[in-house]
Amino acid sequence: MNHLLFDIDSTMIDTSRSGMRAMRDAGIELFGEGFSTEGIDYAGRLDPLIVHELLARAGVDPTPQAHARFRACYRGHLDRRLREPGVARSLPGVAPLLARLREAEDVVLGVLTGNYRETGSMKLEASGIDPSWFRVGVWGDESPHWPARREHLPPIAIDRFARLAGREVDPSSVIVIGDTPHDVSCGLASGCRVLAVATGRFDIAALRGAGASVVVGDLSDVGAIESYLRGRA
Ligand SMILES: [Mg+2]
Repeated sequence: MNHLLFDIDSTMIDTSRSGMRAMRDAGIELFGEGFSTEGIDYAGRLDPLIVHELLARAGVDPTPQAHARFRACYRGHLDRRLREPGVARSLPGVAPLLARLREAEDVVLGVLTGNYRETGSMKLEASGIDPSWFRVGVWGDESPHWPARREHLPPIAIDRFARLAGREVDPSSVIVIGDTPHDVSCGLASGCRVLAVATGRFDIAALRGAGASVVVGDLSDVGAIESYLRGRA
């Protein structure tokens, strides 16, 4: 059995930076026009950590209540932005690839992302991808540690795959598919393989340098990608 963990942003979908924009909208609504997100690093990082930095930037004590308030406000703005026509789309090859993988009996589909569950699901739905296709989901607020890091998430996913199967899951049967060095390092740290895709900010050389098992420009060579993900390459 092959266990797949797809990242969301810039791996499966492009939402025209709606997430970053909605976070900025939320900051302005809550803290005023002076709120700035400049210099905040979003790529491959977990939403709670990003929100923590944004709150600190605004001079707000990052209590659980402040986090929850920001998260709810962000959700509202993201919902509005994703309703704008043409904002969200799946990336090349993703729709046919997922269609094939959903049919495959030797594959368990999973999602591993820095997004909160509700906003990550909204982004997927806006891009024509049904979150229920993924039998395992590990979301940005599920790290049991602080500061929350992506490396904390694959062990949770492996545990859920194992519970689903009713037996242990070998990490080498797990493939993380992602677009940033954070995706690569989180997979490698847990003994997973990593298929890196250069559809985000990072080019093929950078992803190769991070140690990805396989690097592709995008997922449009659906047959070859499917073969690799099903262990037939
Ligand atoms: Mg990404």
